[in-house]
Amino acid sequence: MLDTVSDTRDQSPVAYDMLVNGGWVGAASGRRLDSLDPYTGRTWATVPDAAMPDVAAAVGAARAAFDMGPWGRMTARDRAALLRRMAELIARDVDRLAAIESRDNGKLVREMKAQWRYIPEWFNYFAGAADKIEGASLQSDRSNFTIFTRKEPVGVVAAITPWNSPGLLLVWKLAPALAAGCTFVVKPSEHTPISAIELGKLFEEAGFPPGVFNVVTGGPEAGRALVGDPRVDKIAFTGSTDVGKSIAKAAADNLTGVLLELGGKSPNIVFDDCERKAAANGIIAGIFAASGQSCMAGSRLVIQRSIMDEVLGRVVERAKTIKLGDPTQADTEMGPVATRQQHEKISGMIRSALADGARLACGGLEGGPGGLFVLPTILVDVRPDMSIVREEVFGPVLCVLPFDTEEEAIAIANDTQFGLAAGIWTQNVQRAHRVANQVRAGTVWINAYRVVGYNAPFGGYKQSGWGRENGMQALDEYLETKTIWIELSGATRDPFTIG
Ligand code: NAD
Repeated sequence: MLDTVSDTRDQSPVAYDMLVNGGWVGAASGRRLDSLDPYTGRTWATVPDAAMPDVAAAVGAARAAFDMGPWGRMTARDRAALLRRMAELIARDVDRLAAIESRDNGKLVREMKAQWRYIPEWFNYFAGAADKIEGASLQSDRSNFTIFTRKEPVGVVAAITPWNSPGLLLVWKLAPALAAGCTFVVKPSEHTPISAIELGKLFEEAGFPPGVFNVVTGGPEAGRALVGDPRVDKIAFTGSTDVGKSIAKAAADNLTGVLLELGGKSPNIVFDDCERKAAANGIIAGIFAASGQSCMAGSRLVIQRSIMDEVLGRVVERAKTIKLGDPTQADTEMGPVATRQQHEKISGMIRSALADGARLACGGLEGGPGGLFVLPTILVDVRPDMSIVREEVFGPVLCVLPFDTEEEAIAIANDTQFGLAAGIWTQNVQRAHRVANQVRAGTVWINAYRVVGYNAPFGGYKQSGWGRENGMQALDEYLETKTIWIELSGATRDPFTIG
């Protein structure tokens, strides 16, 4: 048993297999991928590198489990019991799962523990929802008909997930899809595939029928094979906006339904009547937690000019004291970023912002601890047209955009292709509501930032995505509505007249 990350730091890499139709298998090609520990830079695990034949086998297993297996005949009550069992098993294994996830993506063990402690609630919530999936009895405008609707599972769900919160973002899709009665294939990020495999082990232990949950590991090639398989009924994707767009285009060939949770460039809007200490703390939490590798990162600080020096002063002082280091240590506040490519991308974006005339309030490229760490960085003197203001960095980089009036604040907040989240800091309840109503984003926090819950819908406006995860709306993403008309009179009708 892997109980702490450091337990395995000196061991040779762990070889994992994929879960297809209840069996543990390698890739047909025999190829394998390395999973790196971003803190040590060394391979700590290897997984199969799946391609088209492996993906086809997994989708075939999910299809058969849906169409012919016991899962499709199981009552909602029995499905719910299995979901609750998963919740128990995850709760039992929190420390192990958190250690593995931190090892895979470099995030703090304490953040990963908090996340895994919360994850069982998704299974419990959607277990509770499973037997409340209801159709409706409709009023017919013709006396000889009765009409009702049934809610049916959409079928085989293919999930493709990113590396920043791999377990959580998988469960956001998995728990509602299983509650709805779907079967599931996940292709986790090639950078963080292990938590999905570990969940597969718990599915076996919980006693799910084979083929209900399948894991294929691999990179974009495996992802493309999954998206292109016509036996998939719904694609649930979390990742970058560019890949999301390519998935939507590819899915259009089969008109497969798509749920997209994509990037963001979320504003944290701070008014002069805010509680200063709380706002400063919220700004830090918004951009530096998880080393900024969060889709909902508050990466644009939209701040009233009259309090800018005071609040920014507090934020800069705190940012300079953030402790970077080993993600397994309890006092570490920021770990490394997850991959070398990500480190290069963030460094390149900081470099070009500085070349465009932005000025550092703190952080930057000099004086960091080396490796895959990025210093908490705050950029002032930025212009709305700079790419650092418009593009998602997905790292600990904050842009500061001052405003004078409420209208200006709303205009700056909405001046983005994205619309995932926003924070508003004010003590004025009327202003809070006014601004919340006008910001075009899927989630708005007032005097808070970066809070999510299993029952609160989450998703994006504009190029931040399609559809919603969490809450009862998430269940609808995995259901079809069937309308059933029953003729009551037995009369023969004119075949050439509708209705
Ligand atoms: P990514 O888009 O590079 O990769 C995501 C997944 O897609 C990976 O599993 C990858 O292998 C797969 N993939 C890549 N190309 C593919 C293709 N052509 N067809 C099918 N699959 C393909 O994203 P990432 O770098 O892993 O994650 C970071 C991104 O995720 C950020 O943009 C972030 O904002 C976003 N994100 C969004 C949310 C949200 O809920 N909105 C949450 C977390 C992360």
